[in-house]
Amino acid sequence: MSENNCLFCRIIAGEIPSNKVYEDDLAFAFHDINPQAPTHVLIIPKKHITSLTEASKIDQALLGHLTLVAAKLADQLSVSAGGYRTVINTGAGAGQSVWHIHVHLLGGRELGWPPG
Ligand code: AMP
Ligand code: ZN
Repeated sequence: MSENNCLFCRIIAGEIPSNKVYEDDLAFAFHDINPQAPTHVLIIPKKHITSLTEASKIDQALLGHLTLVAAKLADQLSVSAGGYRTVINTGAGAGQSVWHIHVHLLGGRELGWPPG
């Protein structure tokens, strides 16, 4: 279920290069091109879901899977001990700029609260 004009669907398909860190049947993860922390990875579902608002009950296990992949990658990328943050920006007003749901994994520095 991919969309031709979706940047992240095209990254999953290998049509646009990415710095991949993880892939399984359901998920794909790669380094953010404009990192906001020493570790900044995006975890995305292979299924095209526009945003969290468009996700539905059928996506429940998939969304849980993305979260657990983030935790596993935080371990593998050695940011667990220092603390890390997972973020899903939803809607333009919250900073969403790519319309394929993605979990940001940020770590490797002090992360202030509240986020901007
Ligand atoms: P958001 O603003 O929450 O929608 O996050 C989108 C993220 O995608 C931003 O952090 C961008 O830096 C990142 N991004 C955009 N294009 C690419 C790309 N080609 N490869 C990797 N990350 C990207
Ligand atoms: Zn997509």
